[in-house]
Amino acid sequence: MSESLRCTPPPPPLVHNQFEAVRELFDRYVVPSYGRFELALARGAGSYVWDVAGRRYLDLGSGIAVCALGHAHPEVSRALVEQAERLVHVSNLYYHEPQGRLAEKVVQHLRGGKVFCANSGAEANEGLFKLARKFGHEEGRFEILTAHNSFHGRTLAGIAATGQEKIKKGFAPMVAGFRHVPFNDLAAMRAALSPATVAVLIEGIQGEGGIAPATPEYLLGLRALCDERRLLLLMDGVQCGHFRTGRFQSFQRLLEGVTGGDGFLPDGVSMAKSLGGGFPIGAFWVRAPYADLLGPGTHATTFGGTPLGCAVALKVFEVIERERLADRARAVGEFLKTELTRLSGQYPGVVRAVRGVGLMLGFELAADLPGWASDPKPPSLQLVQRLHAAGVLTVPSGTHVVRLLPALNLTREQAAEGIEIIAGVIRSLA
Ligand SMILES: *Cc1c(COP(=O)(O)O)cnc(C)c1O
Repeated sequence: MSESLRCTPPPPPLVHNQFEAVRELFDRYVVPSYGRFELALARGAGSYVWDVAGRRYLDLGSGIAVCALGHAHPEVSRALVEQAERLVHVSNLYYHEPQGRLAEKVVQHLRGGKVFCANSGAEANEGLFKLARKFGHEEGRFEILTAHNSFHGRTLAGIAATGQEKIKKGFAPMVAGFRHVPFNDLAAMRAALSPATVAVLIEGIQGEGGIAPATPEYLLGLRALCDERRLLLLMDGVQCGHFRTGRFQSFQRLLEGVTGGDGFLPDGVSMAKSLGGGFPIGAFWVRAPYADLLGPGTHATTFGGTPLGCAVALKVFEVIERERLADRARAVGEFLKTELTRLSGQYPGVVRAVRGVGLMLGFELAADLPGWASDPKPPSLQLVQRLHAAGVLTVPSGTHVVRLLPALNLTREQAAEGIEIIAGVIRSLA
């Protein structure tokens, strides 16, 4: 070792077993844009994570529907290391196999079309916005209609597209060209169309909006309306996609067994979250007639579809398909929903409703419980905190809904373990 290196002071030791020390780093150095829970996590394995003090939690949130195969999946870790040793990044100036293979995989699940690789959900949606504007440009059409209570990301166009006032507050002026209409209301959508409208964007199941699935009639009605008025039908599959509902995309599940549902396809679908199983990658798919609208020079992103990100996403696809995890999501999701519904029946004063499909579930809490009065935080946050104390991680959605978005390989036993803990906390509030 050279003399100068030897004289460099060693870095401070990693902090173990000290939540306060970790929080202190955040308080000093991290932009405080998140309301964080009092929990510092250190490692994970499958559907369990451990905090810095070594306490174990059953993870029913999987990083907000991201860790599709749980934490530290050995095959995903190996794919990551092997690709990292071969080629991490080359830029989109060149071709490489993993991006082509990942696009092929997505296209196989959506019957034709093409894929653009991005880095996040918001960025995938931005691509769809640009696609829509390009589509309508010659006719002067640019407006995109989205739903109340939707969520489409935190970029400037993302918050303009999002149908929630709290997310826009303080960031005026909004990017022009977005308007919001009530969700699952076809007549409202039709009435809102203007000569400038070029596209409609909805989530198959609203995630941040409290777990609200689109009805089959709404999906089919929007398809017919968009065909009639030459609009693009865009779907945000960032949270509800990637096999979470038991099918690749939520609309495929929501339209199962519905007359006319088989032939349904939107014109664009955004993806991210579970796509990389924890590795940051996003993408959007675009249906065949519009697949070449974004020609050379029209859209780009430096990190989009790196060999590393695509190799990991391909491995996630491979494991999900080989282990039939879509079927598992369906079965375990059904079990969880049945048990939550039973709890809601037992404690209707605490749990008002249970909603969702597959492993995208939410339960709505009563607003007027005496138990909430001791804390100014909304009921959803209070319940999530109580669940932390009991050893389970879940995700709040708005002020009154708690979400379960577990890994697709959650076992039935782990689901039962989670239900037992949730039941205990609900009981203590009744
Ligand atoms: C999380 C989410 C996004 C934003 O994704 P990011 O990766 O955080 O940019 C967009 N749409 C939906 C439905 C989401 O759940």
